[in-house]
Amino acid sequence: MRFVERERLQSCVHCGLCLASCPTYVELGTEPDSPRGRIALMRALEDGALEPTPDVVRHLDLCLGCRACETACPSGVRYGSIIEAARPFVEGRRPRAVRLARRALAVALTSRATRRVLVGPLRAVGGRAPLARLARAVPARMLAFAAALPRAVRGRLPRVVEPAGAARGTAVLLTGCIAEDLFAATNRATAALLARAGVRVVVARDAGCCGALALHLGQRDRARTLARRAAYALASARADWVVSNAAGCGALLREYDALLSDDPRARGVAERTRDALELLAELGLPDAPHAVRCAVAVHDPCHLAHGQGVRDAPRTLLAAVPGLRLVELAESDWCCGSAGTYNLTEPAMAERLLARKLDRVAASGADVVVAANPGCVLQMRAGAIRRGLRVRVEHPIDVLAAAHGVGQMTSPPFGDTT
Ligand code: SF4
Ligand code: SF4
Repeated sequence: MRFVERERLQSCVHCGLCLASCPTYVELGTEPDSPRGRIALMRALEDGALEPTPDVVRHLDLCLGCRACETACPSGVRYGSIIEAARPFVEGRRPRAVRLARRALAVALTSRATRRVLVGPLRAVGGRAPLARLARAVPARMLAFAAALPRAVRGRLPRVVEPAGAARGTAVLLTGCIAEDLFAATNRATAALLARAGVRVVVARDAGCCGALALHLGQRDRARTLARRAAYALASARADWVVSNAAGCGALLREYDALLSDDPRARGVAERTRDALELLAELGLPDAPHAVRCAVAVHDPCHLAHGQGVRDAPRTLLAAVPGLRLVELAESDWCCGSAGTYNLTEPAMAERLLARKLDRVAASGADVVVAANPGCVLQMRAGAIRRGLRVRVEHPIDVLAAAHGVGQMTSPPFGDTT
């Protein structure tokens, strides 16, 4: 075996029923950029019949890892685990300079020290109206991302957030790596909403990065190291549930047993992981005291819909908010191009998918589009700013927090980005 068991590759019967669900195939129309085509490439790589030439690697790199093909596949092909196994194999065969650059990116994004240096200045200027105006005038993506950042909040979450009455259970909250710095308000709102639902919340301050970003970059060893530390911190809380509000992190936590098959703590984490919205919908929230008068469209992040099978929870919770009207979003589970680190490593395709998503958002007539993943929020918000779309892009938790009086929406104060 070079990187994956043959049986997993052979589970694909080449029926092609996944093709119409694959964003890169629909955009490019080329077989090697489809799930079936990529599985054939990986099978040839595994057999040694093909070498990882730049052309082959290109087709695999263009895969978003969105797992829409898994949802569509009637044969139960676990495409996500196959491409995940192929990435480190491919990584080891890249030119040295490229390999080192990708490794450096993985370290920069996932280590607290380097992230603070990178993110600190961004937090200082992020979310300011002049930056948004500049981002519309100058076609620079990174400016738009900076303008899309939520404004920094002061203080840290306490180690424990107690519910008002008797606790129905304890949840340990993963605050994330980049999200911990940039989406602190959403983390606070998550803890506050869980407390309103009767949950005692333990904040996993020492968990750090779950490993998902490193895995996207094919850095499996680093991902395992990070996951081991996170699993230790999360398991130490001895909670009933492990909760994340980031779809990408939650999807990986649920698969910790596969990533760390030798670690019983990882299995426990995988079994107890819930998306924050999923747990809130399961337990129920008291009536929201405040109306949120707007039309809301729900974008389904790939790692929530395809990775975790969670689709109804955000809609159920939002539908209960007074004044809020849900509107249909076409292709709601179509990738927005964020896809972990994809919008950094594959900007051209990420832009195509973002444009498609924003077309659908504009057509929905929504005032607010929600996405339960910080990466999707930033990607779509930055795109909306550049396009001058009069729409707020929010995490559903922040909309719910506004309705329950425990937070507010995090769009920049210019709100509609005009
Ligand atoms: S994971 Fe997404 S981009 Fe990759 S093959 Fe499947 S549907 Fe296509
Ligand atoms: S991945 Fe599934 S749906 Fe796609 S070609 Fe293979 S068997 Fe068919």
